[in-house]
Amino acid sequence: MTTPRDAGRVVIVGAGLAGYSAALQLRTLGHDGPIALVDSESTAYDRPPLSKRLFGDDFTIDALAFATHEALAEKDITTHFGSAAVALDPAAPSVSLRGGSHLEADTVLLTVGGRARSLPIPGIDLPGVHMLRTFEDAVAIRERVSPGVRAVVIGAGLIGAELTSSLRIAGADVTLVDPVQVPLIPAIGEALATRLHDMHTERGVEVIVGVTAEISQSAEHLQVEVDAGPTLPADLVIVGVGLVPNVELAAAAGLDIDNGVLVDESARTSAPGVFAAGDVARLRDSSGTLHRREEHWEAAETSGKHAAYGMLGLDAPARGAPWFWSDRHDVHLEAVGRLSGSGKIVVREGGAYPAVFLVEDGLLVGAAAVDDTNLVRAARRLIDNRVPVTATELADPSVSLRAVLRVSR
Ligand SMILES: Cc1cc2nc3c(=O)[nH]c(=O)nc-3n(C[C@H](O)[C@H](O)[C@H](O)COP(=O)(O)OP(=O)(O)OC[C@H]3O[C@@H](n4cnc5c(N)ncnc54)[C@H](O)[C@@H]3O)c2cc1C
Repeated sequence: MTTPRDAGRVVIVGAGLAGYSAALQLRTLGHDGPIALVDSESTAYDRPPLSKRLFGDDFTIDALAFATHEALAEKDITTHFGSAAVALDPAAPSVSLRGGSHLEADTVLLTVGGRARSLPIPGIDLPGVHMLRTFEDAVAIRERVSPGVRAVVIGAGLIGAELTSSLRIAGADVTLVDPVQVPLIPAIGEALATRLHDMHTERGVEVIVGVTAEISQSAEHLQVEVDAGPTLPADLVIVGVGLVPNVELAAAAGLDIDNGVLVDESARTSAPGVFAAGDVARLRDSSGTLHRREEHWEAAETSGKHAAYGMLGLDAPARGAPWFWSDRHDVHLEAVGRLSGSGKIVVREGGAYPAVFLVEDGLLVGAAAVDDTNLVRAARRLIDNRVPVTATELADPSVSLRAVLRVSR
């Protein structure tokens, strides 16, 4: 790492988790220069509740907000909310906002996240066809749902599965369509992915394997046509097929892009003085290897904080194995590290749900479990500390991973 630098006037574009975390971390690290936080939305808020709590009584933007404007002002963070950044001049650097104003900067952080991926099929723009990324999206879905409403969810990944569960709890009749027989195997292993996917049927969801070809509007309702499958009547369709990173601002400014804004270990983009973090950023490490872009909450928070270190020319603390959680049908899933690629899958049976591990060369590289935070936490420490562990120990439900950790000390 280079010598500490004065980040000067910092402009952060995107006040989601990564941008918000970076702003606070800059202050924690002692940066006392101006910080401007820009967002096209009116509030900086948390997204995971959008798919989990959208039918709850306390589902308001204030309940989801990270902080009030006053709390941000107390930290001397100036907000430009409801203002989209429309151009980045990396040479200045400066950021232009819709409406014509310019923010001069010494350091710019891009934390512009992503948007919900659409499907290139006829009917995708019909009224009643929704996607979910923002509070506004969640409110639009909520307004269309009442007991007995027919909802078709396209995409059975993490967000599609969470929405399916929330819609069932709200009393909707749900059909879930996905081209894959069992989604999420690469993320959580086959044993757990199968068990969790089966829960949809157990909870009264109709699960269809197939590719959605078209959505149309009949006189009474929407119709979802599945290739070589049924035509599904629907009052509401929700498409949950992943995320597209918002790279346009960076691309127009000439920054290096490859399915994300490319950054080094210090969150530096290819333009001096311009950094990126969160869902929009993709690590190209010092050997030139491109890493998978992460799209999870903890990665956004950590990369935002680490970008603050990078902007100040400081070494960030070591980063642990990536972790995420997801909630559906009253169960809480957690996964850490990787569960696909080289190595041997080990399944621990004996509980209500299997726990899944990936072991490579005698070391744990990934784990996933349901309703077992302690196990995943211990697994994470085994991964981060490179503690040797055998497949026999991992498969045996009577072996405590914490005990394996203790013995290793
Ligand atoms: C419905 C849902 C449920 C989720 N559940 C989980 C979960 O259970 N577990 C988990 O680990 N992760 C979950 N995630 C993922 C997690 O929320 C994201 O990884 C995280 O929000 C990413 O933060 P970010 O700051 O990088 O991006 P974002 O949260 O997308 O924030 C980017 C911000 O940039 C703003 N912006 C974009 N372009 C501009 C522009 N040109 N000018 C100004 N502002 C701009 C946007 O308005 C937005 O506020 C979920 C995500 C969603 C959508």
